[in-house]
Amino acid sequence: MEDKQFRNAMGKFATGVTIITTEVDGEVHGMTANAFMSVSLQPKLVVISIDERAMMLEKVRKSKTYAVNILSSGQQDLSMIFAGQIKEKREVNFSTLNGLPVLDGALVQLSCEVVNEHTEGDHTLFIGKVTNLQLVDGEPLLYYSGKYRTLPVQEEVR
Ligand code: FAD
Repeated sequence: MEDKQFRNAMGKFATGVTIITTEVDGEVHGMTANAFMSVSLQPKLVVISIDERAMMLEKVRKSKTYAVNILSSGQQDLSMIFAGQIKEKREVNFSTLNGLPVLDGALVQLSCEVVNEHTEGDHTLFIGKVTNLQLVDGEPLLYYSGKYRTLPVQEEVR
């Protein structure tokens, strides 16, 4: 099986888009990620998966904390910035949740403490215990087959 075929197949799983954020030595680092999943309700756990080549890997290892920002439909630019799809450096403002940097305008902000990590192949999974969250109404940014999408506008049911 070719890598490209596997990637194309996995890209058929439609997802939301998150930006993972953390802070090390006073410096904020963010990375776009769609490998995010809820793991457990009791206790409240989530998981993210980080490529061995990503700068984010060492940042999360050091800080042992991360925030997950679930993006809204108007935040494609931010996703592109934190995926390196927009090359020039942009100034991004962060708010704080439980001492972690988070992005305003995200549908959900979760602050997490790393409780476990597992390296499998070329990615590392970080299990995070959710310490706080903020939730607002809105429409999600989606990712499918290598392209950003938004939900179609629903006809109002009378
Ligand atoms: P860098 O490449 O150094 O940083 C990424 C970008 O963010 C750079 O352009 C940098 O300038 C900018 N940036 C970082 N911090 C700041 C800041 N404080 N202020 C302003 N800009 C900043 N990779 C995974 O490992 N796991 C995934 O689940 C995953 N899912 C993805 C989903 C989508 C939809 C996309 C498009 C990409 C995904 N990637 C994923 C790839 C990943 O986002 C990129 O490889 C990313 O560039 C890796 O970031 P990095 O940590 O190596 O840091």
